[in-house]
Amino acid sequence: MGSIAEKVIRGDIRSVARLIRDIDDDVVEVRETLKELYSHTGRAYVVGITGAPGVGKSTLVDAMIVHLRKSGKTVGVLAVDPTSPFSGGALLGDRVRMQRHSTDPGVFIRSLATRGQFGGLTQSTRYAIDVLDAMGKDYIIVETVGVGQDEVDIVRAAHTTVILVVPGMGDDIQAIKAGILEVGDIFVINKADQEDVERTENNLKEMIHLGDKEVQEMVWEPPVIRTEAVFDKGVMELLLEIDKHRDYLTTTTGNKGFSKKKERIRELLHDMVMNRLMEDFSTQMMKDDRFEQAVDSICKGETDPYTACDNLILSRKTSNESSVRMDER
Ligand code: GDP
Repeated sequence: MGSIAEKVIRGDIRSVARLIRDIDDDVVEVRETLKELYSHTGRAYVVGITGAPGVGKSTLVDAMIVHLRKSGKTVGVLAVDPTSPFSGGALLGDRVRMQRHSTDPGVFIRSLATRGQFGGLTQSTRYAIDVLDAMGKDYIIVETVGVGQDEVDIVRAAHTTVILVVPGMGDDIQAIKAGILEVGDIFVINKADQEDVERTENNLKEMIHLGDKEVQEMVWEPPVIRTEAVFDKGVMELLLEIDKHRDYLTTTTGNKGFSKKKERIRELLHDMVMNRLMEDFSTQMMKDDRFEQAVDSICKGETDPYTACDNLILSRKTSNESSVRMDER
């Protein structure tokens, strides 16, 4: 018995699974449950892991789970794939190795792949992090495929962001320059058993240190470490670096909630308001055909898109005001 939120807080796996599925499906009612859960969040440490397909993310996450479990920590994993809106099942299927943890109640693994209409994966990932946090997981690992803007947005939700590369990925290292370099707290060269590690390591270090001023001025200097995930080498070192970064965040901000907190809340609230406004606005425009009428008018040359846009926003404001007046009565 009890509400869904109460069941989630008690760690009921079925309720958590259903709630995350509803988040993925963009079910509006989840908001009420998330409201109830919020005061139970803020305890978990969130680690983001990103890198191109095949670099060994899931092998590494699997090895991290083993070590974390040995030290008595509980772990939640969210595997997020922004590149494919339909690959939820396939993604989990790929994570066969990780499935060996499925009978361990201290581990919870789920994929998120569908894009909600508004806010998309970034928002659903944040919601799902809150759910795993409220269910009491000590560590939440968010694994994302790729190194593009979507991934940057998603890993922003993490306290520590780990960027994974493999030796000899010259082009990909160039690609990560584009925006992900700034969000990387720890850089990992996986498959360090392969050739070209030295050169990749030098390239990476150079990029971190010679990068833009912002990077140089950062107090936290992102370490570059080597791992061989498949042979369980370097994984402990990675976990130690994550702990160091966690200590850094805690001490530099004096914030037990691991800092960046205000920044994160500002970003979260801003996105939420924007998404909700877009959702409401869009629903209303579609409902009364005003949008299509405006499209027709532009096609017929009766008006221009700039004026049509002004009018649509204006009519939205007017109908809002009148509904407020109705409420006041
Ligand atoms: P993901 O797509 O980034 O999640 O990559 P996977 O974890 O599925 O790994 C891709 C392949 O690389 C698999 O065949 C792994 O066994 C292999 N792999 C992972 N880590 C290492 C490593 O350290 N050395 C070598 N040689 N292979 C590895």
